[in-house]
Amino acid sequence: MTDLCILGGGPAAWSCAMTARARSLETLVIHTGISQSVLSRAEKIVNYPGIPEISGLDLLASFRDQALAMGCQERVVNARQVMAMEDSVMVLCGQDVVECRALVLALGAARPALLPGEEDLLGRGVSWCGTCDGIFYRGKEVAVLSAWEGGVEEAVFLADLCSGVDYYVMKEHEHSLPDSVHEKAGRPQSLEKEGDRIRLHTKESSALYDGVFIFRPAVSPTRLLPDLETEDGFIRVNRRMETSIPRVFACGDCTGRPLQIAKAVGEGNVAAISASELLQQKKG
Ligand SMILES: Cc1cc2nc3c(=O)[nH]c(=O)nc-3n(C[C@H](O)[C@H](O)[C@H](O)COP(=O)(O)OP(=O)(O)OC[C@H]3O[C@@H](n4cnc5c(N)ncnc54)[C@H](O)[C@@H]3O)c2cc1C
Repeated sequence: MTDLCILGGGPAAWSCAMTARARSLETLVIHTGISQSVLSRAEKIVNYPGIPEISGLDLLASFRDQALAMGCQERVVNARQVMAMEDSVMVLCGQDVVECRALVLALGAARPALLPGEEDLLGRGVSWCGTCDGIFYRGKEVAVLSAWEGGVEEAVFLADLCSGVDYYVMKEHEHSLPDSVHEKAGRPQSLEKEGDRIRLHTKESSALYDGVFIFRPAVSPTRLLPDLETEDGFIRVNRRMETSIPRVFACGDCTGRPLQIAKAVGEGNVAAISASELLQQKKG
């Protein structure tokens, strides 16, 4: 069990990780790559104190390098679900469950838009997790709809179980596929149930599958943790960055405006201090 898990790979997460390491917490950052932070799109930043001008990606790389040099660990994977227990918090990510004593959500404000039909068919032919649900599609034909590199690993995993795996790109990303996975043209538009199967519509055509797996680099906070209290779509926190769930803190854009680096970094610092104090109290 690790002391602190941080979900996110933007300024809030790395700042939180640095302060946690300065307080000697074993710290694991789980993120989907720094290029998934909205900051990676900023060509030029001129309002971050101490750095007159820098690109978003360079600033993110420098935050990450500094946190790793301070001894924090990282895993590049999408966190899919969080379960808060009395003495720990479990995070389902990739093919594993990670257990920690406290958790910080630094998920950013970007929320994935779902396809029409997706929400309704989730668990009824549509899945967000190859490892959890792949077994139900042994010997069957499935489609993988992916918005990021993580979809490739999942498609390869499914190709070992299923009779056919077609790969659709929802958003451009690197995807070198083995022969067992077939790339299909056309952007997914919507899904509908047809008998026992799922019809996937792209702009140009449609196809029937036994199952459809959808992989994105983010999950909305209330999907991760259904009991989490939110306000206007942002996670509700107090000044200590505590959420409505014990042992779970939040920081950065996911807690609300202003959506700025300095605010994200400051909240990351506060979240780490609050988590460290909580863990000290529990030890004492
Ligand atoms: C084009 C642009 C220009 C900007 N310019 C400036 C500027 O000049 N100055 C300024 O102060 N601010 C600027 N901003 C705002 C700034 O980028 C944000 O305020 C800042 O990035 C917020 O940091 P964050 O860590 O809270 O979230 P983000 O940077 O959005 O990071 C969130 C991270 O969480 C990860 N994540 C989400 N869900 C999961 C999951 N389930 N599992 C694992 N990882 C997950 C994401 O992949 C991402 O890495 C700009 C924003 C944009 C879009």
